[in-house]
Amino acid sequence: MTAAKYGFDTLKVRGGYDCKEHNQAVSVPIYQTAAFDLGTPDHAADLFTFSAPGFKYSRVANPTVAALEKRVAALSGARGAVAVGSGMAAVTYTLFNVAEGGGRILTTPRLYGGTVDSFKKLYPTFGIGVDYVDSPDDPASYEKAIGPQTRAIFVESLSNPNIEVADLEALSAIAHAHGIPLIVDNTLATPYLINPFEYGADIVVYSATKGLNGHGNAIAGIVLEGGDFDWNSKIFPQFSQPYHTLRNRDGRDRTFLEVFPQFPFTARIRANYLGYFGAALGPFDAYLILVGLETISERVSKQVRSAETIVHYLEDHPAVAWVNHPAARGSRYAALAAKYFPKGASSALSFGFKGTQTENDHFLESLQLFGYQVNIGDARSLIVNSPHTTHGELTSREQEIAGIAPETLRLSIGLEDPQDLVDDLDQAFAKAFA
Ligand SMILES: *Cc1c(COP(=O)(O)O)cnc(C)c1O
Repeated sequence: MTAAKYGFDTLKVRGGYDCKEHNQAVSVPIYQTAAFDLGTPDHAADLFTFSAPGFKYSRVANPTVAALEKRVAALSGARGAVAVGSGMAAVTYTLFNVAEGGGRILTTPRLYGGTVDSFKKLYPTFGIGVDYVDSPDDPASYEKAIGPQTRAIFVESLSNPNIEVADLEALSAIAHAHGIPLIVDNTLATPYLINPFEYGADIVVYSATKGLNGHGNAIAGIVLEGGDFDWNSKIFPQFSQPYHTLRNRDGRDRTFLEVFPQFPFTARIRANYLGYFGAALGPFDAYLILVGLETISERVSKQVRSAETIVHYLEDHPAVAWVNHPAARGSRYAALAAKYFPKGASSALSFGFKGTQTENDHFLESLQLFGYQVNIGDARSLIVNSPHTTHGELTSREQEIAGIAPETLRLSIGLEDPQDLVDDLDQAFAKAFA
């Protein structure tokens, strides 16, 4: 299945998989095995020198996981993909792979809580610096903050929890003018709402746990590589240094650019980070993601419409101070959303609860349909008080910088009847103030 020939909805159910290579199995088989027989020593030598395709050990590659990688790559026209055990592994492996050895990441505080927290607790101990721009909505602010050690610009296309829209085209132009890649966490948007590669992104990461799977039943992550970025640069020596792991059959060490010219970035994550940090995705979880992905368009389009219904209900509610979603009245992201998100922006939204902390807690306790959970993108609607949970590791000053007010509640809209969801919010508001 070549990505160029078929549309998104065809690729989401058939891309990257040929049943003729799998005993005619129509549904992708679960290859529940740790190892693959090497056959003969001669074949083993081929496998270990990347001279023949094939599988050796499921920590670094497995046929079920490979089908997921190929399918998500096909959906986005990516040249390389590596699936890993969680979205956090996808983010960490990606940013380490680009900035290891004393590099710095230029980003904004408007990120998933775990990501910001890892920047504080993990990156400095590994010698990687993180710089935050002063004003995340202004591309000039990124341009100004790029220094000699900056190795990438990293943003979320739609940010968590306030659904700010990143100006990907402007940011990729700035990154490329400085010889560095734009890396985009596209988790909230999902590949259905936007393909960041079309706007110049070089690497796209997903927590596949969220809307990409859509059923809240597996933890997974994936890294995609567009294939156009030139890694043959002195600021990225890791791609042009000879490695013994990459030796040929004559024993000559080779580079990632030499052995994997189409996808050196994801090949290096697989060899080094998946190989040695080892957060591998199991075949059964990869299978669950593949099944979830088959209905991504149908799910996400309905979830976005329902989210817009909820946005408009909340805007008119007297106990709501503000609503953050590009479809909200007067949203400062309306123009960017019209450009980047013509199908609608996000099944998640956040709002400010107007009341005391006790009333806020009582509101949460009174909801019957909305689950109180730290997930997003599930088929079931859920709510969370982000500043106290998902973003609770941030100090109050850091929350302020990230624009997360103490009264913030984040909603992720599922596939239920939208009227039932409105009714649930309505009865909970009534109980909160009773
Ligand atoms: C959830 C999330 C992650 C982390 O993914 P896990 O699968 O939970 O490890 C990273 N980025 C964003 C934007 C997320 O929402």
